[in-house]
Amino acid sequence: MRECRQCGFPRKFATYFDWREDGTIISTDRSGTRAQIALLNAGEFESIFNDLSHTIGLNVDPFLVKAYKGIGKAIYGHTPIRHVAFLPNNRFFRPQFLARALLKLTAADVATLGTGRVSLDRYAPGASAVVRFTYPCLYPLLAGSAAAMYESVEGISDSDVEFELDAGDLVVRLRPAAERALSTELEERLHYEEAVPIEGPVRYSRCRECGAPALAGLTFQWDTNRGVIKNRLTGEREVVVAVQAVNAILRELELELGEGIPGIIYGHQKALTRERLESRSERDAERFWDEYLADMALRGMGYPMSIARTASSVRVEIANAYNLVLYAAKTAAAFEVSSGQASEIQWERREGNLGTFTLTPVAGAA
Ligand SMILES: [Zn+2]
Repeated sequence: MRECRQCGFPRKFATYFDWREDGTIISTDRSGTRAQIALLNAGEFESIFNDLSHTIGLNVDPFLVKAYKGIGKAIYGHTPIRHVAFLPNNRFFRPQFLARALLKLTAADVATLGTGRVSLDRYAPGASAVVRFTYPCLYPLLAGSAAAMYESVEGISDSDVEFELDAGDLVVRLRPAAERALSTELEERLHYEEAVPIEGPVRYSRCRECGAPALAGLTFQWDTNRGVIKNRLTGEREVVVAVQAVNAILRELELELGEGIPGIIYGHQKALTRERLESRSERDAERFWDEYLADMALRGMGYPMSIARTASSVRVEIANAYNLVLYAAKTAAAFEVSSGQASEIQWERREGNLGTFTLTPVAGAA
Protein backbone atom coordinates (compact mmCIF):
# COMPACT_ATOMS: atom_id res chain seq x y z
CA MET A 1 0.00 0.00 0.00
CA ARG A 2 1.27 3.42 -0.92
CA GLU A 3 2.21 5.70 1.92
CA CYS A 4 2.60 9.45 2.12
CA ARG A 5 6.18 10.44 1.32
CA GLN A 6 6.02 13.20 3.89
CA CYS A 7 4.45 11.54 6.96
CA GLY A 8 4.14 7.82 6.16
CA PHE A 9 0.35 7.76 6.60
CA PRO A 10 -1.42 5.42 4.13
CA ARG A 11 -2.46 7.63 1.21
CA LYS A 12 -5.75 5.81 0.82
CA PHE A 13 -6.92 6.73 4.32
CA ALA A 14 -5.77 10.31 3.96
CA THR A 15 -8.09 10.40 0.93
CA TYR A 16 -11.04 8.44 2.38
CA PHE A 17 -11.03 9.85 5.93
CA ASP A 18 -11.55 13.52 6.66
CA TRP A 19 -10.62 14.59 10.21
CA ARG A 20 -12.92 17.57 10.73
CA GLU A 21 -12.46 20.54 13.02
CA ASP A 22 -15.71 19.70 14.82
CA GLY A 23 -14.08 16.56 16.27
CA THR A 24 -15.70 14.14 13.85
CA ILE A 25 -14.31 12.02 11.02
CA ILE A 26 -16.20 11.73 7.75
CA SER A 27 -15.37 8.76 5.55
CA THR A 28 -16.21 8.59 1.87
CA ASP A 29 -16.23 5.08 0.41
CA ARG A 30 -15.66 4.12 -3.22
CA SER A 31 -19.35 4.52 -3.99
CA GLY A 32 -19.24 8.12 -2.72
CA THR A 33 -21.34 7.38 0.38
CA ARG A 34 -20.39 9.69 3.24
CA ALA A 35 -20.56 8.38 6.77
CA GLN A 36 -19.49 9.67 10.16
CA ILE A 37 -17.06 7.16 11.65
CA ALA A 38 -15.25 6.70 14.95
CA LEU A 39 -12.10 4.80 15.87
CA LEU A 40 -12.87 2.67 18.91
CA ASN A 41 -10.74 0.45 21.09
CA ALA A 42 -11.89 -3.01 19.96
CA GLY A 43 -11.49 -4.70 23.35
CA GLU A 44 -13.34 -1.92 25.14
CA PHE A 45 -16.24 -1.93 22.67
CA GLU A 46 -16.55 -5.73 23.00
CA SER A 47 -16.40 -5.49 26.80
CA ILE A 48 -19.36 -3.10 26.96
CA PHE A 49 -21.63 -5.68 25.30
CA ASN A 50 -20.17 -8.64 27.20
CA ASP A 51 -20.75 -6.75 30.45
CA LEU A 52 -24.28 -5.94 29.36
CA SER A 53 -25.04 -9.62 28.60
CA HIS A 54 -23.64 -10.49 32.01
CA THR A 55 -25.60 -7.83 33.91
CA ILE A 56 -28.99 -8.59 32.37
CA GLY A 57 -28.39 -12.35 32.16
CA LEU A 58 -29.17 -12.53 28.46
CA ASN A 59 -26.83 -12.89 25.48
CA VAL A 60 -27.26 -9.67 23.48
CA ASP A 61 -25.40 -11.02 20.39
CA PRO A 62 -28.61 -11.71 18.39
CA PHE A 63 -29.69 -8.08 18.89
CA LEU A 64 -26.26 -6.86 17.77
CA VAL A 65 -26.43 -9.05 14.64
CA LYS A 66 -29.88 -7.74 13.82
CA ALA A 67 -29.08 -4.06 14.40
CA TYR A 68 -25.84 -4.25 12.43
CA LYS A 69 -27.53 -6.12 9.60
CA GLY A 70 -30.20 -3.46 9.38
CA ILE A 71 -27.74 -0.60 9.19
CA GLY A 72 -25.48 -2.57 6.83
CA LYS A 73 -28.36 -3.10 4.42
CA ALA A 74 -29.23 0.59 4.56
CA ILE A 75 -25.61 1.37 3.61
CA TYR A 76 -25.35 -1.32 0.90
CA GLY A 77 -28.62 0.01 -0.49
CA HIS A 78 -26.55 3.00 -1.61
CA THR A 79 -23.74 1.01 -3.23
CA PRO A 80 -23.49 -0.84 -6.57
CA ILE A 81 -24.41 -4.11 -4.82
CA ARG A 82 -28.11 -3.22 -4.97
CA HIS A 83 -28.09 -3.49 -8.75
CA VAL A 84 -27.40 -7.21 -8.45
CA ALA A 85 -30.82 -7.64 -6.86
CA PHE A 86 -32.45 -6.81 -10.19
CA LEU A 87 -30.80 -9.76 -11.96
CA PRO A 88 -32.84 -12.97 -12.38
CA ASN A 89 -32.18 -15.44 -9.63
CA ASN A 90 -30.41 -18.27 -11.42
CA ARG A 91 -26.86 -19.50 -11.78
CA PHE A 92 -26.46 -18.14 -15.28
CA PHE A 93 -27.27 -14.55 -14.47
CA ARG A 94 -25.97 -14.52 -10.93
CA PRO A 95 -22.95 -16.79 -11.08
CA GLN A 96 -20.53 -17.37 -8.29
CA PHE A 97 -17.84 -15.19 -9.84
CA LEU A 98 -20.08 -12.18 -9.61
CA ALA A 99 -20.64 -12.69 -5.89
CA ARG A 100 -16.90 -13.19 -5.45
CA ALA A 101 -16.13 -10.07 -7.45
CA LEU A 102 -18.50 -8.05 -5.32
CA LEU A 103 -17.07 -9.47 -2.14
CA LYS A 104 -13.57 -8.67 -3.33
CA LEU A 105 -14.60 -5.10 -3.95
CA THR A 106 -16.07 -4.92 -0.45
CA ALA A 107 -13.19 -6.83 1.16
CA ALA A 108 -10.78 -3.96 0.59
CA ASP A 109 -13.18 -1.62 2.34
CA VAL A 110 -13.72 -4.11 5.19
CA ALA A 111 -9.95 -4.40 5.72
CA THR A 112 -9.68 -0.62 6.10
CA LEU A 113 -12.11 -0.87 9.01
CA GLY A 114 -9.71 -3.00 11.01
CA THR A 115 -12.13 -5.90 11.49
CA GLY A 116 -10.04 -8.49 9.64
CA ARG A 117 -10.11 -9.86 6.07
CA VAL A 118 -13.27 -11.23 4.53
CA SER A 119 -13.44 -14.08 2.00
CA LEU A 120 -16.06 -16.44 0.62
CA ASP A 121 -15.73 -20.15 1.53
CA ARG A 122 -18.80 -21.37 -0.32
CA TYR A 123 -21.65 -19.82 -2.24
CA ALA A 124 -24.65 -21.55 -3.76
CA PRO A 125 -26.84 -18.88 -5.38
CA GLY A 126 -30.28 -18.79 -3.83
CA ALA A 127 -29.39 -21.46 -1.27
CA SER A 128 -26.52 -20.64 1.09
CA ALA A 129 -23.21 -18.87 1.64
CA VAL A 130 -20.31 -19.32 4.04
CA VAL A 131 -18.27 -16.19 4.72
CA ARG A 132 -14.92 -16.27 6.54
CA PHE A 133 -13.18 -13.47 8.43
CA THR A 134 -9.51 -13.85 9.34
CA TYR A 135 -8.17 -11.74 12.25
CA PRO A 136 -11.78 -11.05 13.30
CA CYS A 137 -13.10 -8.97 16.17
CA LEU A 138 -16.57 -7.73 17.20
CA TYR A 139 -18.01 -11.08 16.03
CA PRO A 140 -21.76 -10.30 16.15
CA LEU A 141 -21.20 -7.10 14.21
CA LEU A 142 -19.22 -8.93 11.50
CA ALA A 143 -21.94 -11.60 11.31
CA GLY A 144 -24.54 -8.85 10.93
CA SER A 145 -22.62 -7.09 8.19
CA ALA A 146 -22.02 -10.40 6.34
CA ALA A 147 -25.78 -11.01 6.47
CA ALA A 148 -26.45 -7.51 5.13
CA MET A 149 -24.11 -8.14 2.20
CA TYR A 150 -25.64 -11.57 1.57
CA GLU A 151 -29.22 -10.29 1.57
CA SER A 152 -28.25 -7.43 -0.75
CA VAL A 153 -26.58 -9.80 -3.24
CA GLU A 154 -29.46 -12.29 -3.09
CA GLY A 155 -32.12 -9.60 -3.16
CA ILE A 156 -33.90 -11.14 -0.17
CA SER A 157 -35.39 -9.45 2.87
CA ASP A 158 -34.19 -11.80 5.60
CA SER A 159 -31.68 -14.58 6.26
CA ASP A 160 -30.74 -17.09 8.95
CA VAL A 161 -27.34 -16.26 10.43
CA GLU A 162 -25.06 -18.59 12.38
CA PHE A 163 -21.49 -17.86 13.36
CA GLU A 164 -18.67 -19.71 15.08
CA LEU A 165 -14.91 -19.58 15.51
CA ASP A 166 -12.83 -21.96 13.41
CA ALA A 167 -9.13 -21.96 14.36
CA GLY A 168 -9.29 -18.26 15.16
CA ASP A 169 -11.28 -17.37 12.04
CA LEU A 170 -14.88 -16.26 12.27
CA VAL A 171 -17.11 -18.38 10.02
CA VAL A 172 -20.57 -17.01 9.21
CA ARG A 173 -23.17 -19.34 7.66
CA LEU A 174 -26.05 -17.73 5.81
CA ARG A 175 -29.28 -19.04 4.31
CA PRO A 176 -32.43 -17.32 3.07
CA ALA A 177 -34.86 -17.22 6.01
CA ALA A 178 -37.88 -19.47 5.81
CA GLU A 179 -40.05 -16.68 7.12
CA ARG A 180 -39.70 -12.97 7.06
CA ALA A 181 -38.58 -12.03 10.57
CA LEU A 182 -37.23 -8.51 10.22
CA SER A 183 -40.18 -6.18 10.66
CA THR A 184 -40.76 -3.30 8.26
CA GLU A 185 -40.93 -1.18 11.40
CA LEU A 186 -37.31 -2.03 12.18
CA GLU A 187 -36.24 -1.36 8.59
CA GLU A 188 -37.85 2.05 8.76
CA ARG A 189 -35.96 2.88 11.93
CA LEU A 190 -32.66 1.83 10.35
CA HIS A 191 -32.66 4.10 7.34
CA TYR A 192 -29.38 5.60 6.27
CA GLU A 193 -28.60 9.28 6.75
CA GLU A 194 -25.72 11.13 5.13
CA ALA A 195 -23.30 12.72 7.57
CA VAL A 196 -23.59 16.47 7.99
CA PRO A 197 -20.46 18.08 9.46
CA ILE A 198 -20.59 21.28 11.49
CA GLU A 199 -18.01 23.99 12.29
CA GLY A 200 -15.75 23.43 15.27
CA PRO A 201 -12.74 24.54 17.27
CA VAL A 202 -10.47 21.50 16.88
CA ARG A 203 -7.22 22.46 15.16
CA TYR A 204 -4.90 19.76 13.87
CA SER A 205 -1.32 20.09 12.81
CA ARG A 206 -1.63 18.46 9.40
CA CYS A 207 0.75 16.89 6.95
CA ARG A 208 1.28 19.34 4.09
CA GLU A 209 1.42 16.53 1.54
CA CYS A 210 -1.66 14.40 2.39
CA GLY A 211 -3.63 16.53 4.88
CA ALA A 212 -3.92 13.83 7.58
CA PRO A 213 -3.44 15.04 11.18
CA ALA A 214 0.13 14.34 12.28
CA LEU A 215 -1.29 12.86 15.48
CA ALA A 216 -3.38 10.31 13.53
CA GLY A 217 -0.23 9.02 11.83
CA LEU A 218 1.58 8.82 15.15
CA THR A 219 -1.30 7.01 16.85
CA PHE A 220 -2.86 4.60 14.34
CA GLN A 221 -1.08 2.02 12.23
CA TRP A 222 -3.00 0.26 9.46
CA ASP A 223 -2.10 -3.29 8.42
CA THR A 224 -4.37 -3.77 5.40
CA ASN A 225 -3.06 -7.26 4.64
CA ARG A 226 -4.56 -8.55 7.87
CA GLY A 227 -7.27 -5.92 8.25
CA VAL A 228 -5.90 -4.80 11.60
CA ILE A 229 -5.48 -1.30 13.01
CA LYS A 230 -2.98 -1.06 15.85
CA ASN A 231 -2.57 1.79 18.29
CA ARG A 232 1.16 2.59 18.26
CA LEU A 233 1.00 4.14 21.72
CA THR A 234 -0.87 1.36 23.57
CA GLY A 235 -0.28 -1.65 21.30
CA GLU A 236 -4.03 -2.30 21.40
CA ARG A 237 -6.35 -3.04 18.51
CA GLU A 238 -8.65 -0.35 17.16
CA VAL A 239 -11.64 -0.57 14.81
CA VAL A 240 -13.49 1.86 12.58
CA VAL A 241 -17.20 1.85 13.34
CA ALA A 242 -19.93 3.86 11.60
CA VAL A 243 -21.32 6.27 14.15
CA GLN A 244 -24.80 5.64 12.83
CA ALA A 245 -24.30 1.94 13.53
CA VAL A 246 -23.22 2.56 17.13
CA ASN A 247 -26.35 4.63 17.68
CA ALA A 248 -28.56 2.08 15.92
CA ILE A 249 -27.19 -0.72 18.11
CA LEU A 250 -27.82 1.11 21.36
CA ARG A 251 -31.26 2.27 20.25
CA GLU A 252 -32.29 -1.26 19.24
CA LEU A 253 -31.02 -2.70 22.53
CA GLU A 254 -33.08 -0.13 24.43
CA LEU A 255 -36.21 -0.79 22.34
CA GLU A 256 -35.87 -4.57 22.63
CA LEU A 257 -34.66 -4.89 26.21
CA GLY A 258 -36.05 -1.85 28.01
CA GLU A 259 -35.24 1.69 28.96
CA GLY A 260 -32.86 0.62 31.72
CA ILE A 261 -30.29 -0.42 29.09
CA PRO A 262 -28.65 3.01 28.47
CA GLY A 263 -28.08 3.41 32.22
CA ILE A 264 -26.37 0.01 32.44
CA ILE A 265 -24.21 0.76 29.38
CA TYR A 266 -23.33 4.18 30.85
CA GLY A 267 -22.12 2.50 34.04
CA HIS A 268 -20.02 -0.11 32.21
CA GLN A 269 -18.40 2.43 29.88
CA LYS A 270 -17.62 4.74 32.81
CA ALA A 271 -16.01 1.93 34.81
CA LEU A 272 -13.94 0.71 31.84
CA THR A 273 -12.65 4.19 31.01
CA ARG A 274 -11.98 5.07 34.66
CA GLU A 275 -9.86 1.95 35.01
CA ARG A 276 -7.80 2.97 31.97
CA LEU A 277 -7.42 6.57 33.13
CA GLU A 278 -6.28 5.70 36.64
CA SER A 279 -2.83 4.87 35.31
CA ARG A 280 -2.53 8.21 33.47
CA SER A 281 0.68 10.17 33.88
CA GLU A 282 -0.65 13.71 33.32
CA ARG A 283 -1.29 15.33 36.73
CA ASP A 284 -2.07 18.87 35.58
CA ALA A 285 -5.87 19.08 35.41
CA GLU A 286 -5.98 21.62 32.60
CA ARG A 287 -3.67 19.63 30.38
CA PHE A 288 -5.32 16.34 31.32
CA TRP A 289 -8.73 17.59 30.11
CA ASP A 290 -7.29 19.18 26.95
CA GLU A 291 -5.51 15.96 26.00
CA TYR A 292 -8.50 13.82 26.89
CA LEU A 293 -10.99 15.82 24.78
CA ALA A 294 -8.44 16.02 21.93
CA ASP A 295 -8.01 12.22 21.96
CA MET A 296 -11.78 11.73 21.71
CA ALA A 297 -11.84 14.18 18.78
CA LEU A 298 -8.97 12.38 17.04
CA ARG A 299 -11.10 9.22 17.32
CA GLY A 300 -14.03 11.04 15.72
CA MET A 301 -16.13 10.87 18.88
CA GLY A 302 -17.07 14.57 18.66
CA TYR A 303 -16.07 17.68 20.57
CA PRO A 304 -18.08 19.86 23.00
CA MET A 305 -19.59 23.14 21.79
CA SER A 306 -18.86 24.31 25.32
CA ILE A 307 -17.35 22.83 28.45
CA ALA A 308 -17.48 24.59 31.82
CA ARG A 309 -15.31 23.15 34.58
CA THR A 310 -15.18 24.07 38.26
CA ALA A 311 -13.54 22.16 41.10
CA SER A 312 -16.84 20.40 41.80
CA SER A 313 -18.64 20.15 38.46
CA VAL A 314 -18.34 19.80 34.70
CA ARG A 315 -21.05 21.00 32.32
CA VAL A 316 -20.84 19.85 28.71
CA GLU A 317 -22.82 20.93 25.70
CA ILE A 318 -22.24 18.77 22.61
CA ALA A 319 -23.98 18.49 19.24
CA ASN A 320 -22.02 15.73 17.51
CA ALA A 321 -21.24 13.01 20.05
CA TYR A 322 -20.66 9.60 18.38
CA ASN A 323 -23.14 8.41 20.97
CA LEU A 324 -24.40 10.62 23.75
CA VAL A 325 -24.53 7.93 26.44
CA LEU A 326 -21.01 6.70 25.70
CA TYR A 327 -19.57 10.22 25.39
CA ALA A 328 -21.13 11.30 28.69
CA ALA A 329 -19.84 8.12 30.38
CA LYS A 330 -16.30 8.77 29.14
CA THR A 331 -16.52 12.37 30.33
CA ALA A 332 -17.81 11.20 33.73
CA ALA A 333 -14.86 8.79 34.03
CA ALA A 334 -12.45 11.68 33.46
CA PHE A 335 -14.32 13.79 36.02
CA GLU A 336 -14.19 11.01 38.62
CA VAL A 337 -10.50 10.37 38.10
CA SER A 338 -9.57 14.07 38.22
CA SER A 339 -11.83 14.87 41.21
CA GLY A 340 -11.28 11.59 43.06
CA GLN A 341 -15.03 11.34 43.71
CA ALA A 342 -17.91 9.24 42.42
CA SER A 343 -20.18 11.31 40.18
CA GLU A 344 -23.78 11.64 39.16
CA ILE A 345 -25.12 13.01 35.93
CA GLN A 346 -27.94 15.45 35.29
CA TRP A 347 -29.33 15.85 31.78
CA GLU A 348 -30.69 19.20 30.65
CA ARG A 349 -31.09 18.16 27.07
CA ARG A 350 -30.84 14.81 25.30
CA GLU A 351 -31.95 14.39 21.68
CA GLY A 352 -30.09 12.11 19.30
CA ASN A 353 -26.44 13.21 19.32
CA LEU A 354 -27.32 16.58 20.84
CA GLY A 355 -27.03 16.89 24.58
CA THR A 356 -26.27 19.03 27.60
CA PHE A 357 -25.29 17.41 30.88
CA THR A 358 -23.68 18.31 34.19
CA LEU A 359 -21.53 16.04 36.32
CA THR A 360 -21.27 16.59 40.07
CA PRO A 361 -19.98 14.48 42.98
CA VAL A 362 -22.59 12.06 44.31
CA ALA A 363 -24.66 13.91 46.91
CA GLY A 364 -23.70 12.95 50.46
CA ALA A 365 -20.45 11.26 49.40
CA ALA A 366 -17.27 12.40 51.10
ZN1 LIG B 1 1.22 12.84 4.85
